Amino acid sequence: MSTTSMLLQGGTVLIHDADDSVKAIKADLLIEGKIITKIEKDIETPSSAEIIDCKDKIVCPGFIDTHHHVWQTLLKGRHANQLLLDYMYTGNFTSSLHSPSDIFWGQLGGCLECLEVGTTTVVDHSPINYSPQHSLAAVAATVCSGIRSIYCYCPTSRVQTWKPFTFNPNLLEDWVLKTFENLASKAPYGQGRVQIGFAFDSWYQPRETIVNLFAKVKAAGVKLITSHVVRNAITGLHSVPQIMHNYGLLDSSVLLSHATGSTKESINLIREANCHISTTPSTELQAALGFPVALDPDLDIQSQCGLGIDCHSYISASIASEMRTLLQSARGAHYQPFLDSEKVSEKAYKSVEDVFNLGTMGSARAAGMEEKIGSLAVGKFADILIFDCLSPGMVCAAQLDPVAAIVLHSHPGDIEMVIVDGIVRKKERKLQDIDLNPGNEIWSDTGKNGEIVCWRDVSKELQGRQMELGKKIDELDMVEARKGLIKAYGIDESKLVNTL
Ligand SMILES: [Zn+2]
Repeated sequence: MSTTSMLLQGGTVLIHDADDSVKAIKADLLIEGKIITKIEKDIETPSSAEIIDCKDKIVCPGFIDTHHHVWQTLLKGRHANQLLLDYMYTGNFTSSLHSPSDIFWGQLGGCLECLEVGTTTVVDHSPINYSPQHSLAAVAATVCSGIRSIYCYCPTSRVQTWKPFTFNPNLLEDWVLKTFENLASKAPYGQGRVQIGFAFDSWYQPRETIVNLFAKVKAAGVKLITSHVVRNAITGLHSVPQIMHNYGLLDSSVLLSHATGSTKESINLIREANCHISTTPSTELQAALGFPVALDPDLDIQSQCGLGIDCHSYISASIASEMRTLLQSARGAHYQPFLDSEKVSEKAYKSVEDVFNLGTMGSARAAGMEEKIGSLAVGKFADILIFDCLSPGMVCAAQLDPVAAIVLHSHPGDIEMVIVDGIVRKKERKLQDIDLNPGNEIWSDTGKNGEIVCWRDVSKELQGRQMELGKKIDELDMVEARKGLIKAYGIDESKLVNTL
């Protein structure tokens, strides 16, 4: 790890214009401390600077993931062929079976996967607060990982009993808000990298409760509030944007994940309030949440969208993969009506630059951090990826069109270096060692206090914990859980069908 200045020398640097047009220029880039201080040709090397040879490399802004449940590492592999309803009780609500130390290691694994694949900032929607310790453990792990994060604390519908499947009726017990206020009062963490935001999904609560809660959250200094918005027969046909609008809560501090199934009226409310949407293509397509809205020509909301992963228990955390998935699925949907009419579109629908921007500047705006991240510019944080232009996947594409190379040809192994806040977190294609000390002040019961660990250590810890968690999950009556969840959510079972 290094906190001294670094000169990225002779690379192809991707620069955003004011209109988000991306230019590839040959230049050096100087990092001093945590800030980009120069992007020019032939920068004279400061005596203290470490020189990184970037010949045959693309120097790219770090990707930004605007919706992710980062704790879910121990659930990876469970949901490959599941839709939303089954994921909820076999995945999401098994947070109730996680100890605080399970959360710590799961969260650390999630943050490190993000870094490995080039995500330098994540908006973490975190519904895990079964106790104050759970949330503290998650924040501590985030700090240790080195990623930049807005950790969005979420009052969680806590499972009370699995058989019968019931929730604790008191969502907002005293400790829930106290824990949040305590966390927020000490923020930011990790030399400013980790901020506290807020997440809320319990729109069934009385209006007065919600309005009072949001007032307290804003009074605690929170700049970003996020909520899931999915309108279908399982999640309900109400409109969260409409509810928020009615309650006076829909404003530019709001980030809505998905917004799939939204009516045009709801999208208009989002547009007028200048709030943002996190589109998570893979989970939306897999879990039948609805078609991603970001490139939908009828909704025309692309300028207020960013990209997210949602669940790395479902898919890879790679934002570049999500750029590709979104672009090609939107193209497929766009071309089909032409084909159905026995015609062919003359023009390609959308561009690689469109989706590259969704995962960089678009996501930065969605996170409310466009002044600091999302592009490579003097004065911004040094959150930077270095891609190898000569790898089997990248060669030829990278030399001709670097943005196309990243969106369509790259895989995470092509990212040689990941820098966050001026600190190298991945080097020579390998995650750097992780110091567990910086999280100690927040939560320290990791079982490895004061240690510096490598990724292999983390992966061993994860495997052991995954096995133990698996035993607990296997003991549950999932038929009963499914029934209980259908009842608790008020789902009309006649809507659950296999054919139309
Ligand atoms: Zn989600």
